[in-house]
Amino acid sequence: MKNSIWNAVKEACVIVIGGHIRPDGDCVGSCAAMYNYIKKLYPQKELFICLDKIPDVFAYIRAVDEAASDPGDISADLFISLDASDPERLGDAKIYFDKAKKTINIDHHISNPGFADINYVFPDASSTCEVIYELLDYDMIDTRIAEALYTGIVHDTGVFQYSCAKRRTMEIAGALDEKGINKTKIIDESFYEKTYKQNLMLGRCLLESRLLLDGDCIISVATADIMREYEADAQDLEGIVSQLRMTRGVKVAVFVYELSAGEYKVSLRANGNIDVSRIASVFGGGGHVKASGCTLYGGLDSEIPKLISEIEKSIKEAL
Ligand code: 5GP
Ligand code: MN
Repeated sequence: MKNSIWNAVKEACVIVIGGHIRPDGDCVGSCAAMYNYIKKLYPQKELFICLDKIPDVFAYIRAVDEAASDPGDISADLFISLDASDPERLGDAKIYFDKAKKTINIDHHISNPGFADINYVFPDASSTCEVIYELLDYDMIDTRIAEALYTGIVHDTGVFQYSCAKRRTMEIAGALDEKGINKTKIIDESFYEKTYKQNLMLGRCLLESRLLLDGDCIISVATADIMREYEADAQDLEGIVSQLRMTRGVKVAVFVYELSAGEYKVSLRANGNIDVSRIASVFGGGGHVKASGCTLYGGLDSEIPKLISEIEKSIKEAL
């Protein structure tokens, strides 16, 4: 499998790398690491990254900005999909995926059906960056590739906290650390540090939160009105669902925000043995056992009870 991936890269002249919409640390890190590695290996290839707006906190991941330009009307020899659980999640990059002569899908989502010509999907891996690390020649990894991979691992493991962080994850993090990265800065500035507005939104959403199902479930909704009050956008909501999950006794945490009228983005987090990817999949979403998401369409008054009822079912099944 590794060989078929590197053969496909070797044979292609024009390569487009894409990740999922609303890119997170693992998605940005994966794209940057792959871009920098291929560029180093084959400087003559035409290489593009096609991503949604990259959150400002990842600006230090070098080469993403210079590469993340609109590839224009091209058809690629090879499309590499990173950290996307299905082709729809590729957003604007999907047209390049559809037109490409060959496609590769590298991911770690349990819900990934294997939608490309070559599929390299490991649901047990902490992050797509961990999967990519296993594909690379260690001696070829420089500081900029290492910091991109480290960022992805840090973000998808909640700084090595979640159960997806295993022995191998720690070994890889240690090996990347030896490439001269500034891990304290990466962790502090891209993960823990919050803007004042993010802190205000966190505070407000905690105040709005409600306990349901006898305290098994916590939910908070950031309506368009609340978002407008703080002039907040999706970036300003980072970390809220993680804080909700830290509520004692809670088995499932739900954070919802209004994308547009009648369209709501849902983040689900689980404690213990509840599988939230199953709940998300009922609503057309997916993700991981303990961290998933979906989009709800329609009115909150009708959709939230359906979601809560699925959560209740999962909690009862897990007893
Ligand atoms: P988050 O709640 O941080 O947006 O997402 C948590 C996890 O669920 C991530 O791994 C993300 O890729 C996945 N996820 C979030 N929303 C969706 C969705 O609408 N569809 C699918 N398939 N996965 C999602
Ligand atoms: Mn990921």
